[in-house]
Amino acid sequence: MTAQIRLPMKRRQFLKNAPLSAAGLLSVPVFANYQDRKDPTSVTKSLIKPLVVCTWNFKNATAKAWEILSNHGTSLDAVEQGVMVEEADPTNETVGLGGRPDRDGNVTLDACIMDKDGNCGSVVYLQNIVHPISVARKVMELTPHIILAGKGAEQFAYENGFKKTNLLTESTKKQYEAWKTTSTYETIINIENHDTIGMLAIDGNGDLAGACTTSGMAYKMAGRVGDSPIIGAGLFVDNEVGGATATGVGEEVIKTVGSFLIVELMRQGKSPQEACEEGVRRIMKKNQGRTDFQIGFLAINKQGETGGYCVHPGFTYSQFTNQGQTEQTVESYYKK
Ligand code: ASP
Repeated sequence: MTAQIRLPMKRRQFLKNAPLSAAGLLSVPVFANYQDRKDPTSVTKSLIKPLVVCTWNFKNATAKAWEILSNHGTSLDAVEQGVMVEEADPTNETVGLGGRPDRDGNVTLDACIMDKDGNCGSVVYLQNIVHPISVARKVMELTPHIILAGKGAEQFAYENGFKKTNLLTESTKKQYEAWKTTSTYETIINIENHDTIGMLAIDGNGDLAGACTTSGMAYKMAGRVGDSPIIGAGLFVDNEVGGATATGVGEEVIKTVGSFLIVELMRQGKSPQEACEEGVRRIMKKNQGRTDFQIGFLAINKQGETGGYCVHPGFTYSQFTNQGQTEQTVESYYKK
């Protein structure tokens, strides 16, 4: 029996906010039923496609990804080129060029990418390269390995045509000089030293891919690597079920292998929203009473449903579908 699905509040709001010019463009009706979700692997088709979402309101990034998806591009190309927009933006001080440095003044980047077949590539502690996500893709496609680190990753990038670039901008240099006089290492929720872009997409074929890229925590210890380039922690995609990505204090995400956990919860029947909530709850169970950190999870399932949840209010995500582009605010574990 196929029952009409009750649209979650977020999607109802989204439809209400959709631009009028896009009305009627949704080519595929939403008629997934709850039963489908009980066995997500039985769903072979995405009901809402194409679709792209990314952490925070990086709307230029989802717009770029949408351009690719709406021209029949693959989800893999869409997520790579989508996050590249932020990597190249020197005013985004949490990703790529213009990312804030570690406590020694070096900008070190982490990124990973995963495709519909479960292939993945990752770079950690990469310096002097504007587009770590593209290096990660090359690791996936050209090497027998999954992760390349530091000098080896940089060398590999040069061998594959990437140019050496100074990633520290005047602005981030000035901030770093100021930070050195105080050397505080306190997190400021939401505007803090972390704003990773994690992106998930479904293409016209219904295939999923994901990408995640960051300069990591500002003023981190030299050599520190967070969750973002760790497959299963900062990003995980399973083309049978869905995908998830994370932003926030990576150490806490790694401890629960957060993105993998969320995808497995969806496999067991949870919606993306329910799975993200459980992912945050698992972390908070181990951190009872702690309020000094933010984590935001974002997930999509094979049917094109989306969900997000965070520790503190303020985490949003950008979404682009046939209905247009929206910014979604997500619920949080701690209320205002
Ligand atoms: N998760 C990233 C890290 O820990 C930072 C962030 O999301 O802002 O490196």
